[in-house]
Amino acid sequence: MFNVYEFFNRINEINPRIRLDVGQPDIPVREEIIEETIKSLRRGETGYTSTSGIQELREAIADLEGVSPEEVVVGPGAKILIAAEIAAAKRIAVISPHWNAYSLIADQFGKTVEVIETNLEDGWRPSPEELKADLLILNYPNNPTGRVLSRSELKGIVEVAEESGTKVLSDEVYADLSFVDFTPVRELYENTVTVKGFSKLYSMTGFRLGYALAEKKEAARIRRFIESTATCVPPFVQRAGMKALELREELVQVVRGEYLRRAEIASRILCGLEFREPEGAFYIFLRVPGDGLEFAERLLQRGVSVFPGAAFGPYEDFIRISLSGGRLEKGLGIIREEIECALESSATGGWAGSSGVV
Ligand code: PLP
Repeated sequence: MFNVYEFFNRINEINPRIRLDVGQPDIPVREEIIEETIKSLRRGETGYTSTSGIQELREAIADLEGVSPEEVVVGPGAKILIAAEIAAAKRIAVISPHWNAYSLIADQFGKTVEVIETNLEDGWRPSPEELKADLLILNYPNNPTGRVLSRSELKGIVEVAEESGTKVLSDEVYADLSFVDFTPVRELYENTVTVKGFSKLYSMTGFRLGYALAEKKEAARIRRFIESTATCVPPFVQRAGMKALELREELVQVVRGEYLRRAEIASRILCGLEFREPEGAFYIFLRVPGDGLEFAERLLQRGVSVFPGAAFGPYEDFIRISLSGGRLEKGLGIIREEIECALESSATGGWAGSSGVV
């Protein structure tokens, strides 16, 4: 299994000038959120809190999501809430390409993940006919393809899940960054656990704050997982989350608009190459000539970092470009140059690549 975190650590050591690898938003955390965190600390909110989250935060989330506070569990990031579901599942299926962490988490629990492949030619459209898993992980808007499923596409999948009694874990951490109509899975299917977070819209990756929405019994089970592993989320982080929710409406407009602008720039610069224009999130999954890992290594030599497609399943001839970093246009220009160069040299035989470091 390709470990993207090892590759990430290597990128950090090399320290390239243009970072288009990790999904770390370069939009700063809003000052009001920072202020609220500091104020909370100064008030002495430094101890343990209720293991499912401070009541006011759960109420604010419940309000936003149209559920009851008992159906909300606050946790230190979306990832550990996803882990809570994977830990309880016997057989896990995921639509691929997929975020590497699902497989890595499953591996930690000694479980394997059945991969349901999709491909660029079919527009990354999943069409499973049957499911043998008791947990199906869906992630739309998708990392790495930027795909958002239409309501009817989603209905098709949910029907298959319903037939086999499969629970859906819907990872909706990019839900606020959808450029098209977005249907939350739980609107169509009761047997769904939804996970969301504060890392992407609010750029609060280092705060480690996320939440799960599930029916009461399932929420209680997730809470037990959180209390027996992480105990709770630091109270000042939860206060920061409450402030973030107050700013949400404004931020959705501004931040989503910014990522849409970047997606349009990227689609223009990469026009004619093999990818599907993103409908949400902030990634482009691009086919490259030859091996994606070799291609990523070549780009690193030119001062641009991306992740190889192998990090997302059996997609060795792809790379993932994150649009959440700076100097995007320069980086995309270099990627385009490298592809054109590789195509030219494969026409004349052998891999040449272009030279020059930014
Ligand atoms: N889910 C997906 C699909 C992601 O891409 C990421 C982060 O990149 C996460 C979850 C992690 O979210 P968090 O930072 O809240 O753990």
